[in-house]
Order: sequence, then structure tokens, then C-alpha cells
Amino acid sequence: MKFRSTFLSAVALVGLAAVSAAAQQLVAASAGASGAQGAGRVIAPNRQGRPDPGKVNSPNGGRPEIRTQADMLRVSGYTAPGAKAYAAMAVDASAGMWPVTLHYRCRNVPGGSSINAPLPEPVEVFDGVYSIGDDANNVWALDTPDGIILIDALSNEADAKRIIVANMRKLKLDPARIRMILITHNHGDHYGGAAYLKSISGAKLAMSREDWEGKITFGPPMPVKAADDFYLTDGQKVEFGGRTLTVVLTPGHTPGTVSLVFPVTEKGVPHVASLFGGQGSPKTVAALRQFRVSLDHFADVTDAMQADVVLSNHTVGDDGLTKVAQLLKRKPGQPNPYVVGREGVVRYSALWSDCLSADIDQAVWNAAHGITPPPANR
Ligand SMILES: [Zn+2]
Repeated sequence: MKFRSTFLSAVALVGLAAVSAAAQQLVAASAGASGAQGAGRVIAPNRQGRPDPGKVNSPNGGRPEIRTQADMLRVSGYTAPGAKAYAAMAVDASAGMWPVTLHYRCRNVPGGSSINAPLPEPVEVFDGVYSIGDDANNVWALDTPDGIILIDALSNEADAKRIIVANMRKLKLDPARIRMILITHNHGDHYGGAAYLKSISGAKLAMSREDWEGKITFGPPMPVKAADDFYLTDGQKVEFGGRTLTVVLTPGHTPGTVSLVFPVTEKGVPHVASLFGGQGSPKTVAALRQFRVSLDHFADVTDAMQADVVLSNHTVGDDGLTKVAQLLKRKPGQPNPYVVGREGVVRYSALWSDCLSADIDQAVWNAAHGITPPPANR
């Protein structure tokens, strides 16, 4: 509580749209304090979210949540009247289904997706579909008779070894059987471990041409595209080992972000999973508008394929830490928390679109009032 009251008074002093360096340091100090249980990772201040001290021991690892209109008003930081109206609609759309995601989407404050929570346990979420990432970035492994498909690859070789390879071994998945790594976009926390994983498995790497050839904003150098690597394109069907993943080009978070829709089963019962590849809001109004158009494009595909599952490559993108904790405690007959039905997929799309609209409205309002916007999320 001491942290929160200090932080809030700091925010009150400088205004919600311009958090002071002192407040940022407080955040860093707090995240560092909880980092003792987070495998000692060092997270750069601009990648850190703000922990909610009341939730440090909750399954979500201390991430703030938005469940009500009052929560939204208290923590989102929007000051523009239009942005507040959109944010209120986002609360209605979420209907309490994604409290962490809603906080991450709908906010006018800086900070990233990491918070140094304890590492989540790797777990089989659907038949042969495994969650094997860390507390901030998720990685999905799709097993097939012909080998394993990975979606994303964490930040670097060390994380690939310590988290992806270690989690695969725990699940009796042989990392040498990785045949394909589908990379959602060219931020280092998604492709940084790919070169190492290719080196131990011979896996093909795949990414959009726009992002593979585009400018990298952070992370190690992009792996040089080998002869067997390939580009991901809009509408492409990636078929491997009996699985088919539909690729949707969804620029906005980066110019070449790709998203995926693919059938899964749970004990043989069919579902359709949707995974939007880019998370944090970009900074410019043009990119935010492009992002919103991409969400609509993605919705066209998830509607056409009747998706009923929401997955993410960030744990703040699908309330993943909470869902993994629920899965680990799940009793026979209880529902799979990742199966949200058509209503859930539609609500998820709506809440995100509303939050982007809030960001757009706030950015326009900021420009009209001469306010410097906070740094973009990742
Ligand atoms: Zn990113």
C-alpha cells in the first residue's frame, strides 16, 4: 500500500499523461523487490509494468486488473472525454472476462508487459498444444506426428535455453523435433531465441517480409533468412503435420505483424483458436488507426472460421497467467478457461477495438492541447 499511495500522489503531482522520472524509479524499485521470486531477470524500466501490491501473490503475479467502470476511471489515465467514453465501452465489452488484458490495452500510461512474476508452469492447453513461455511473453508449441511448430521464440539464446528448451523437456517434447518457428513480429522479445532454436533443430523460420526486412526497434540482429525459411503472407495456409494455420497480416503494432487462426481439439472435441500477433499500442495516430483496421480484418477471419478460443503471445494479452493457474488446478469436468466461445471472441475483439479508439481519441486530444504523449507500450 505504501508503494501505491506514493505512486498515486506522484501521478497526481505531475498529471496522468506525464509520469515523472521519480515515479518510474519507484516502479523499477518495486519490480526489483518482487524480482527475487522472478528468477532474477533484469527488466529494463521501459519494459516494466506497474505492479498492484494487492495482487502480488495472486496467479497473475501482481498485474493490475480492470473489472469495473470505477477501475477504468482510476487507473487507465485517459483524460480526453472521447477516450473516456470509448474506455467505458471497453469495460462493457470485456464483461470481466479479461481484467489484466483490459488494463494493458486501455491505458494512457507508459510501461511494458513484464512484471517479474514467478515463471508459469508449462502446460498442455489443448491436445498437443502447449503453453511454454515466461511470465510476460508466451510461446506456443504445437506438436504433430512430423515435428513441432513453435509460435515465437522469446528474447535471446539464454531465454530459449532456460525457458523454451527446459519447458519442452519437462513436457517430454524434444527440442530437436522443432520443424518450424512462426514469428509474429520483429520485436526482440518474439524472435531473439529463434536463431539458437534453429541451430539445435534445423527448424524453418517464418515471418512476414515486411517485418523481416523492416527496421528493428529492439532486440538482437534478425536471423539472416536461410534458403529454407519462408515469408508469412495474408491469407496463407501453413500446413504441417496435419495442422493448418491461417495467417492474417495485421499491421499496427509493427508494419508486418501477423496473427494466426487454427483448429485445435480438446480430448477430440474441436475448437478454433485465434492468436493476435501484436500487443502494445503504437504511438502514432496513423499506426493506431492501422491497428484498428487490422483488428477488423482479423475479426473477419475469426468470424468466418467461427473461432471460440483466444490465445496470445503475451500473458497480458489473454490473462494467461491466471488461465494457466486455473488449468493447473482444473478438476475433471471443469471447463477449459481458454475456451471463451463465440461470445468471448467477439467481446475480446470489441474491447481491444474500443481501447484503440480510446488511444486514438486521446492522441488527437493530446495534439490539440499540446500534451506530449507517453512512450508506447510493447
Ligand atoms: Zn511487440
